[in-house]
Amino acid sequence: MAGPRKLVLLGPPGSGKGTQAAILAGQLRVPHVSTGDMLREAVADGTALGERVAGIMNSGRLVDDDTMAEVVRERLAHADARSGFILDGYPRTLPQAETLDRILSGAGDGIDAVLVLEVPEEELVERLGGRGREDDSEAVVRERLRVYREKTEPLVEYYRERRALQTVDGDAPVEEVTARILEAIG
Ligand code: AMP
Repeated sequence: MAGPRKLVLLGPPGSGKGTQAAILAGQLRVPHVSTGDMLREAVADGTALGERVAGIMNSGRLVDDDTMAEVVRERLAHADARSGFILDGYPRTLPQAETLDRILSGAGDGIDAVLVLEVPEEELVERLGGRGREDDSEAVVRERLRVYREKTEPLVEYYRERRALQTVDGDAPVEEVTARILEAIG
């Protein structure tokens, strides 16, 4: 299929990133690479990685960049990710964005498009409150949003200067947001 196949989805917790990434992965036939899902799986499986990150995840803070580099490098080396992927939850810091550029520079072209899902803060808090995940208690939600603004939001400017950055209004029903994303990436 023509069109972008290596996509990064950015957006605050509760913006619908994971939902949209899963739908897009199905439509574009590329793997959905969610670092949050991978870490939750490691925690559930009781692996060494899982034991190391469980406490950090439950506090709303970020796992360190070196650990995440290892996780993502290994995942993107799988054959299924060679011709495309939707990255959801990575990168989340400037060093992670630089690491991703390095990983991809050895594997042909880099990222085709970066999408930012925008949702008003009040809507995020409401959505997160109703999700029932272990790291969705009110204090942790506030911390996750704070960490997003401080560490991840600067990536919007990083990518605006380097890549095809598309901003999508995510304050709409799921199918409508999917349609907007597909239009944005052409
Ligand atoms: P998510 O499901 O993407 O919201 O991720 C859940 C949690 O996993 C985050 O709050 C972080 O603690 C951790 N995590 C996931 N991806 C990353 C990443 N790229 N860098 C650091 N921590 C991450």
